[in-house]
Amino acid sequence: MEFQVKCDLCSSKQSSVLFNFPEYRVLSCGSCGLVFTDSSVYSRDLEIYSGDYYKKKYPKRYDSYTADYRKLENDSIINNYTNLLEQLEKFSAKGKMLDVGCATGVFLDIARERGWEVQGIDVSKYAVHYARKNFGLKASVATIENLKAPDSYFDVITLHEVIEHVPSMKSVLKGARKKLKKNGLLLLTTIDSSSLISQLSGMLYHSTLGKINSPAQKCFQLQHTFHPTPEIMRLYFKETGFKEEWFNRSEIPVDKLQEGPLMTLVIGAIYLLQKLTGKTFLFEFIARKV
Ligand SMILES: [Zn+2]
Repeated sequence: MEFQVKCDLCSSKQSSVLFNFPEYRVLSCGSCGLVFTDSSVYSRDLEIYSGDYYKKKYPKRYDSYTADYRKLENDSIINNYTNLLEQLEKFSAKGKMLDVGCATGVFLDIARERGWEVQGIDVSKYAVHYARKNFGLKASVATIENLKAPDSYFDVITLHEVIEHVPSMKSVLKGARKKLKKNGLLLLTTIDSSSLISQLSGMLYHSTLGKINSPAQKCFQLQHTFHPTPEIMRLYFKETGFKEEWFNRSEIPVDKLQEGPLMTLVIGAIYLLQKLTGKTFLFEFIARKV
């Protein structure tokens, strides 16, 4: 079955249905292979990114997002932020940093402590208020497209698990390029729809003719407008004027999964296979403006 929905990456209107979930469809572009949620079936309500989004949807992650994060010992999310900053600092002197989708501001607080001059934007009023009040951060409710900042201003722009949520990845990458200085860097982390767990959930969905759809719905969430892969991101970089500098695969830490003990065990086993086969659920890029 084909639909006339324009692909964000290549503008083709030849897409087919990958998943037909009760509330939404996930489509695959017949030309470039981009997998995306059919945005015509739901309205993007930014009010969902309220306090409850952080507290109730991700309760096990929430501690890492609060002003109390410093009290945590050896926290996997905080460790990942530190590792990413160390990596970034190999490619760039500490200058002006913008975090797009800064959430409650923990990443920026860590970056500032390391000597970066930081600023954040988010579509969530709750998160921006939290970042200002608890960390005294320069944060505002904005998108990269409507941010009031001079062009060629930032040394680094970061996006942590944000690009899969936006209405247009192309528009966000173009917007980021515009705000970056010459040779400025983009740090991006996102989900991989070609990960083993996504493939297995898809096989389960298709082999049961869509009857067992809950694992696939978790891997291909409604809130994710896009379901990228590293290869797709490389095509986007080429299209929007970035050059890849560094690539790494990562994973949502098992201790942060919002699942019961049995499912956590199953996912833990899949994670082990993902690590061995190089098909993890998350990946990270540093790319340079060209
Ligand atoms: Zn396409």
